[in-house]
Amino acid sequence: MKDIATPTRTKEILEKYGFSFKKSLGQNFLIDPNILRRITETAELTKETGAIEIGPGIGALTEHVARSAGKVVAFEIDQRLLPILSDTLSPYDNVKIIHEDVLKADVAQIVEQEFTDFEQLMVVANLPYYVTTPIIMKLLEEKVPIKGMVIMLQKEVADRISAKPGTKEYGSLSIAIQYYMTAETAFIVPKTVFMPQPNVDSAVIKLLKREKPAVEVTNEQFFFTVTRASFAQRRKTILNNLTNQLPQGKEKKEAVIEALSQAEIEPLRRGESLSLEEFARLANALYPVFKS
Ligand code: SAM
Repeated sequence: MKDIATPTRTKEILEKYGFSFKKSLGQNFLIDPNILRRITETAELTKETGAIEIGPGIGALTEHVARSAGKVVAFEIDQRLLPILSDTLSPYDNVKIIHEDVLKADVAQIVEQEFTDFEQLMVVANLPYYVTTPIIMKLLEEKVPIKGMVIMLQKEVADRISAKPGTKEYGSLSIAIQYYMTAETAFIVPKTVFMPQPNVDSAVIKLLKREKPAVEVTNEQFFFTVTRASFAQRRKTILNNLTNQLPQGKEKKEAVIEALSQAEIEPLRRGESLSLEEFARLANALYPVFKS
């Protein structure tokens, strides 16, 4: 049987079921088996690996993952795809499709039930682009016990995730993800390998969970609040952003200046110049001032 992802087989499947794409669900299906092979190779799957997929579509990537991993659990929101998937993936007995919005699902609990026998877990997905960041953050914040993720997303978001300090892409998303994971762009993907073609370029990134977070912070939530506040207006200084954004920041200006000095950060610097270590020092110095 030909790969699901060949253009001819994809067209046949879509015609057989009279399937029409829903743009609102980020439905851009992959039609190039080479890209799928590269994704699964990047994920370094083995039969001891359990895989979580988000948005299997008609099963193009699921099939490749099922061949290399021990088991695949895939979350699909669109009910119309369920009969198609049970047809296209019938040769694979190690795939389970869960009809649920991944953002509403109790992923940690499902993972605990479905992957009792697996040594390690990887997320492998061609993500729906309208919810890329919420999906990644959900998996990280809910502490789903994964080794890492190999995911396709908008190139622009991939650039922001792996950005280094001092670049225009560096921001609170870079910090939120690099706090938990190492991030590396594996390869760039042209629009032509999708049906229908998206408006933006894509990239595959590899994120690997750190053994412990990149920096030590007193309070994680407050650390993320400080990083978000620091980038609220990119042209403003760190002092301005902190006093404008943090609760009662203006009244606490003197204490904020003192915390900056304690963290050895010049108040006139901009957020984009601060490393993760500097943000951690800053958040730890500010925490006693703002904890309620
Ligand atoms: N994996 C397929 C491929 O590579 O050809 C399809 C990828 S397509 C970019 C994204 C898929 O995610 C679609 O099948 C869409 O219906 C599904 N999806 C969108 N939002 C979702 C959500 N909140 N939860 C689960 N699946 C979702």
